[in-house]
Amino acid sequence: MPASRVAATSTPTAPSTPTAPADRGQGGRTWPGLGRHQVTVLSGVGPARAAKLADLGIVNVADLLTHYPRRCVDRSRQASLAELRIDEEATVVVRVDSVGAARRVRGRAIVEMVCSDASGSLKVTFFNQSWRARQLHTGMELLLFGKLEAFRGRRQMTNPLVDLVGDRCGGIIPVYPASEKAGITSWEVAVMVQEAVRRAGRMADPLPPAHRRRLSLLSRTEALAAIHQPESMDQWRSGRRRLAFDELLRLQCALVGRRVAARQRSDGIAHTPLQDRQDLWRRLAASLPFGLTSSQARAIAEIGRDMESDAAMHRLLQGDVGSGKTLVAVAAMLVALRAGHQAALMAPTEVLAEQHYLSIRSLIDGFDVPDASRLGAGRPLQLGLLSSRVGSQERSKLLAQLAVGAVDILVGTHALLVDDVRFASLGLAVIDEQHRFGVDQRSLLRAKGSGGRDPDLLVMTATPIPRTAAMTVYGDLDMTVMTDLPAGRSPVTTVWARDDDQVASVWDRVRREVAFGHQAFVVCPLVDGSESVEAASVEDELRRLEAGELSGLRLALLHGQMPQRAKQAAMTAFRGGEADVLVATTVVEVGVDVPAATVMVVLDAHRFGMAQLHQLRGRVGRSELASWCYLVSRSDGDEAAQRLSALESSTDGFFLADRDLQIRGEGTLLGTRQQGRSDLRLASFTDDRELVAEARRVAVEIVDQDPALSAHPVLAAEVAYFVGEQADFLLKS
Ligand code: ADP
Ligand code: MG
Repeated sequence: MPASRVAATSTPTAPSTPTAPADRGQGGRTWPGLGRHQVTVLSGVGPARAAKLADLGIVNVADLLTHYPRRCVDRSRQASLAELRIDEEATVVVRVDSVGAARRVRGRAIVEMVCSDASGSLKVTFFNQSWRARQLHTGMELLLFGKLEAFRGRRQMTNPLVDLVGDRCGGIIPVYPASEKAGITSWEVAVMVQEAVRRAGRMADPLPPAHRRRLSLLSRTEALAAIHQPESMDQWRSGRRRLAFDELLRLQCALVGRRVAARQRSDGIAHTPLQDRQDLWRRLAASLPFGLTSSQARAIAEIGRDMESDAAMHRLLQGDVGSGKTLVAVAAMLVALRAGHQAALMAPTEVLAEQHYLSIRSLIDGFDVPDASRLGAGRPLQLGLLSSRVGSQERSKLLAQLAVGAVDILVGTHALLVDDVRFASLGLAVIDEQHRFGVDQRSLLRAKGSGGRDPDLLVMTATPIPRTAAMTVYGDLDMTVMTDLPAGRSPVTTVWARDDDQVASVWDRVRREVAFGHQAFVVCPLVDGSESVEAASVEDELRRLEAGELSGLRLALLHGQMPQRAKQAAMTAFRGGEADVLVATTVVEVGVDVPAATVMVVLDAHRFGMAQLHQLRGRVGRSELASWCYLVSRSDGDEAAQRLSALESSTDGFFLADRDLQIRGEGTLLGTRQQGRSDLRLASFTDDRELVAEARRVAVEIVDQDPALSAHPVLAAEVAYFVGEQADFLLKS
């Protein structure tokens, strides 16, 4: 939450000097304290200026001081005008030689300026910024950021960013996010910030000195001076590092605090004790054609311990594609069922929900549950599927059974979250997250518990997410990471096929493998537009391959628009070896398990994301047979190339998740989830991984010992101030 909102909701305080004792924590000024002073306490900030600052989200002194420079320019290392090349973007420091009056040319306002430095001169043209004629004067020093162009043989810039250097003589100039339109320049922000830094004086430091020394961090007072008035680029970076750490620490304190509080609340269900569980799991294990991996065994044990406790479980299960997470989820469900409760599994798509339904059905085949009405006897376990495809009559019947406890496990999509879906006694909720559900949906599902008891919650990722991202997005959950894959998987050889020859050899490989009695998938590109457009394009591709590269082979078709029965028929034919090649959309992305399939061909692979391609590749390499994955793409777009090369070089989902984060940045990964969650202005968990991990470590150390942060009042107050309601529990507990 931006700090300004806190201030905006409080009654406006009369201008006062920030020396009142109230804003001083243990020997220094605090953020909430500075937040109580409106910017008008600063000299030269009247109502008009304050209104302009408010446009930038700056209401109080804390807002102003956390309005950090976007970057810094080292004046001693400016490009000189003579060094600039055409089409190159650069920052230059120049002196204004002349400014023309605003005139209109073909309906557009134009202001022209000539400026120079010791090495040469430059013409600058501003379009539709007639106020520049009033703003700029001969003799002013300016910092320009823009692209050098050649116009009729003359070097010029059009609409560069302008920063008034003013009389600043320091070597390093911080450049602030500013709004020229609102009439506030970076330079004016700098002047106000400098006064605020000076008057704030000494800042209280929430970080215990031992941690500060260990991490070689500046004190907060030093850091604020360093980021706003740096004497060197190094100093600026040190200031940034400390303040970024503080942002991450606040967030982690809130997340870890929430986790600790949840653990201490005993509003969960104490499920079956150990002996009972072991008995159940032995039966489950005995019904499997394989042994558990050690990761699975460890995950099941951890979950079992959580479920036995009367605090509600909040656990994230991370594992690579094919690591066998479904089995772990089923083991957990059986624990809930044994204790007479129900379990739910929510998946983000219809197809995935259906796949889960099928695989769970085969895993629980032959299991009984206790039946209260038949003293000591059991009845077969009942599994239900709820998605938007379920007809209304069938749905009512299912819901009625669910409400009386006659359905034990309900699998579905977000259709599970609807109000009239009521459980007799929900003991465990499993969410196959796939990054697509948010915190709100998690709590909606959890709210389906009854009798004031929260069900246990298990969140699974479809593919790994980077560690630092997991700490941030899922920082309030306990985490189990599955590191090993079932034995007997052979690594998949991955090839990015980008020219005609390479593509021809892809189809050769398919034919050769089919000749050995193996099978192949061909996944067709995503098509923008409706599902029916996509379906049509898959059908086209099938006909093309049948008539061309794959003539003579037995091809089957699978896409989301086909009726359920036709889909099942296609899958059955493929599983049974009656079809050699399955031409499909991404419906095969998850869950499809055909060990004889040894080739995966993904057409137009650049259209898929990293996680999706990794999932698709996970459909082959499921036996001892050598397998191949071909990523067909002639695109050499930058991001796509990086993604496809990464997939060629590694089959490790944890490694790829990290690469993906580097390539795309965090915004895309988190989507809307991160919004409103924090005050991360400086910190980024792509660029500051080490800091994220350290902040987590420090937060765990502090909060585990002292969940109410009573020994850390300054920290407690600023967590509440910046992280807002998210941190309410800290104050309540
Ligand atoms: P994911 O973790 O990607 O969801 P799944 O749960 O779909 O993986 O499991 C992938 C495949 O591995 C399934 O066919 C499953 O039956 C199989 N499997 C699960 N556990 C084991 C194991 N311990 N040994 C061999 N195969 C296993
Ligand atoms: Mg899965």
